[in-house]
Amino acid sequence: MNPSHTGVGSPEYVDAHCHVDLFRDPARVVADAAAARVHTIAVTNAPFVFSHTATLARGNAYVHAALGLHPELVATHGDQIRRFGELLPTTRFVGEVGLDHTTNDVGLRKRQRDVFESVLGQCGSVGGRHRCNRPSLSWNRHHALVYGHATRA
Ligand SMILES: [Zn+2]
Repeated sequence: MNPSHTGVGSPEYVDAHCHVDLFRDPARVVADAAAARVHTIAVTNAPFVFSHTATLARGNAYVHAALGLHPELVATHGDQIRRFGELLPTTRFVGEVGLDHTTNDVGLRKRQRDVFESVLGQCGSVGGRHRCNRPSLSWNRHHALVYGHATRA
């Protein structure tokens, strides 16, 4: 973005997919993102780690905690979909969701699909606007960021 368009001295950037919680010093990453004015979507792999990242991001205008449930974790943490629903109203961002098809296990593929459809449905009901013709990407105004692990048909 051209600084002359923002009315301020330096440009702002976006990091659309950062695993802040996996850095050795996540608090430092959050502070650095703010100092550098980088809007950072701090994705999380499962609902049970979301609160930690949300706490790190609280009060920081540049770091945005995103709720997720990585498809690879569906086998071991698929039951976290209920916790996902409880936490969803607390964030405007969702990431680290989808289908990865890295397994040939038909049952696990179905479970990934069921979980992902639940994610899309929950985003639609919480955000109030939902558009999804097939379980791939869903966009709505308040829970708009669903990316990172899009489906392969
Ligand atoms: Zn990721």
